[in-house]
Amino acid sequence: MEYLIAVDLEGVHGVVGEPYQGLGRVSCPEEYQKAVAAATKEVNAAVAALFDSGATKVCVWDNHGGGGNLDFSLIDSRAQQVKPDNSRPRMEFLSEHDFKGLVYIGYHCKDGTINGVLAHTFSSVNMQYYKINGQAKGELDFDTCIAGSYGVPAIFAASDDLCVQQMQECNPDTVTVITKYAKGRNKADFRDSDEVVRDIYEGVKRAVKANIQPITMQFPCQIEIRYTRMEMSAWILESRKAALDSLQYGDDAHILTATLKDIDDLRVCI
Ligand SMILES: [Zn+2]
Repeated sequence: MEYLIAVDLEGVHGVVGEPYQGLGRVSCPEEYQKAVAAATKEVNAAVAALFDSGATKVCVWDNHGGGGNLDFSLIDSRAQQVKPDNSRPRMEFLSEHDFKGLVYIGYHCKDGTINGVLAHTFSSVNMQYYKINGQAKGELDFDTCIAGSYGVPAIFAASDDLCVQQMQECNPDTVTVITKYAKGRNKADFRDSDEVVRDIYEGVKRAVKANIQPITMQFPCQIEIRYTRMEMSAWILESRKAALDSLQYGDDAHILTATLKDIDDLRVCI
């Protein structure tokens, strides 16, 4: 039984970042270091719960800012690191594994979420929203559907209460744990960190036992993406048109739209 833990940093306990900054190693060093330390504890709790539930292999995908955040000498040595080639389609490495479930640590709300801690979708600087058939979607939704296309269910997520709510809207069966209560982009009420870690351990164990099904996206569907700057949308249109010929401008030059016929079309856009 193999499992994947996907790790971002914004949703872990004890962290809210700083105004006008992402959670960058250089741009926001104190909060970044806190986030890495909290993520390490949360990941180790999830790894322990998976092995205590009969896992034979646990892989950890450190994906904040393209990876390279966690010090793997501090991660449970039974876990393996997966380091995907970021120039390849998102989560393509799932085809090389036989994962029975996906566990999210540290994921965050989609861009535009009112009071969502460090809410963004892929980039706070470049993107304002992604919509599928008119509904805003975030990284959790996309990764859940991509994993679903490989038959892998998202079994567990730990994040702030608003992100947890978005996970439940995506898949109501996914087991969730609240790490903090979101009060603003850079504001939250924190839970006790030891309690969060204990809840993650117990929650992941429950998630392995639960019969959670993969979620897939229905195709064809319409995607609409709003970029902060017009240079960005123009560049994306020019560079990706060959891979997705329905890609075109929307209502204005910040917006691109396309008809997606399968998950690979989605991956051209994210
Ligand atoms: Zn991140």
